[in-house]
Amino acid sequence: MSEALVVVGNGMAAARLVDELAKVALGRYAIAVIGDEPRLAYNRVLLSSVLTGETASHDIELKPAAWWRGCGVTVKYGCLATEIDVGRRELKIANEESIAFSRLVLATASWSAADCWDWKRLMASPRPAHRSRWFI
Ligand SMILES: Cc1cc2nc3c(=O)[nH]c(=O)nc-3n(C[C@H](O)[C@H](O)[C@H](O)COP(=O)(O)OP(=O)(O)OC[C@H]3O[C@@H](n4cnc5c(N)ncnc54)[C@H](O)[C@@H]3O)c2cc1C
Repeated sequence: MSEALVVVGNGMAAARLVDELAKVALGRYAIAVIGDEPRLAYNRVLLSSVLTGETASHDIELKPAAWWRGCGVTVKYGCLATEIDVGRRELKIANEESIAFSRLVLATASWSAADCWDWKRLMASPRPAHRSRWFI
């Protein structure tokens, strides 16, 4: 059975990670990507040219929806991850939904480190043995 791998953040790093996993470990993980932006991952470097009107916003999409589907990845966008319950190995999302994980990757760049996560509580978790396993 596939291991539940949850990636928080649907940015450039997340897309690259899934791309690599699809090549080297297809089927090993049941992957869910949770992103708070209301769209699929895009090339953020090209954002300026979208804002100036030189590039259409759909042209900077890193991978089309069909690619994510083809990799068997569940993509939830417009979903802010708000809490990691280490004991239950569950990620909570702003809409109250919880997603179980075996492995968790935080690919949020520096966006939410200070704002969203309760780092103090996280690091005080009584299950330190698992911490090193959150990341691949
Ligand atoms: C205009 C511009 C130009 C740039 N030019 C360059 C360049 O020339 N060269 C270069 O090397 N870099 C450049 N960068 C920086 C580059 O875009 C970033 O380094 C890169 O996007 C980081 O990728 P990432 O996947 O780590 O993070 P991101 O692409 O930032 O993705 C992180 C994602 O996580 C989401 N997220 C955060 N917290 C949560 C949460 N709690 N729940 C759900 N989702 C969450 C964020 O909304 C975001 O979508 C540029 C950036 C900008 C804005």
